[in-house]
Amino acid sequence: MTRVPDLPVPPPFMWACRECAHFLTELGIAFTLAAGHALYDGSVRCQLLLAAHLASRHAGDVPDRHQDCAPCDYYRQRAETQGIEDLWLEHRARDLFLPAEDARLL
Ligand SMILES: [Zn+2]
Ligand SMILES: [Zn+2]
Repeated sequence: MTRVPDLPVPPPFMWACRECAHFLTELGIAFTLAAGHALYDGSVRCQLLLAAHLASRHAGDVPDRHQDCAPCDYYRQRAETQGIEDLWLEHRARDLFLPAEDARLL
């Protein structure tokens, strides 16, 4: 049985945004359900939606690139490739609402 991860405390701007607050609530529910059902991975969909929302609406609040992070290195080397900037932003946005070990998976 998977445990519910210890989620970081989201920054205040996320609670101030109705969409972010909605996704944070959904994510908490999804993680709790996933912990009880091995085949339920609704939290993944929620993570993707929230990361995409942060990248498009809160780009200025997304952290800079991580130190010692394989995905960041990957994105940095391909930064000129079209569309990569958005994916990179979404990757960094995951840090705002996921524990580091989960955030760096995508
Ligand atoms: Zn928001
Ligand atoms: Zn990274």
